[in-house]
Amino acid sequence: MSTVEKYIRSIPDFPEQGIIFRDITTVTQDPEGLQLAIKSMEDKIKDKDFDVIVGLEARGFMFGTPIAFDMKKAFVPIRKKGKLPWKTISESYDLEYGSAEIEIHTDAIKEGQKVVIVDDLIATGGTVKAAINLIERLGGEVVSCLFLTELAGLNGRKALEGYNVESVVVYE
Ligand code: 5GP
Repeated sequence: MSTVEKYIRSIPDFPEQGIIFRDITTVTQDPEGLQLAIKSMEDKIKDKDFDVIVGLEARGFMFGTPIAFDMKKAFVPIRKKGKLPWKTISESYDLEYGSAEIEIHTDAIKEGQKVVIVDDLIATGGTVKAAINLIERLGGEVVSCLFLTELAGLNGRKALEGYNVESVVVYE
């Protein structure tokens, strides 16, 4: 068992019957859990050349910002539709449950910038694929997609073929 894994709480039947929700609030509410999570994620990208961390609302902010701060990189949020105050572009996508639309400010990524995307978890890969599309539409290059947790059975990696995918805790 990865040392971070013991801090993740698994909740059956949330938000729907038959789904096991992997709750990462039990990681961040523990000082050692938070240290382990951030350090383990940083370790996965320590050899990557990049300029910007893009965090996905909302749990991607909890991990993306401390990683960007520690590694002295910029942090850019991708948010759910209607939250960002300036000019945006948007992408729609299917979720594990339901559908959604996410947005980024048009000046958040400069042409040619190298980007690491951070989120708490990859399931089908739909959310991160929509984020990749936004970043590439602005001329950014995605060098890695970094997650604390991966639900391997949902084949997110397949949706991200051709991209580097890193995760700390994998559930089969
Ligand atoms: P995907 O788009 O890869 O199917 O779903 C990933 C997105 O849904 C992530 O933004 C993630 O926060 C959220 N998500 C889906 N299932 C879970 C889960 O079991 N635990 C957590 N923490 N987030 C989940």
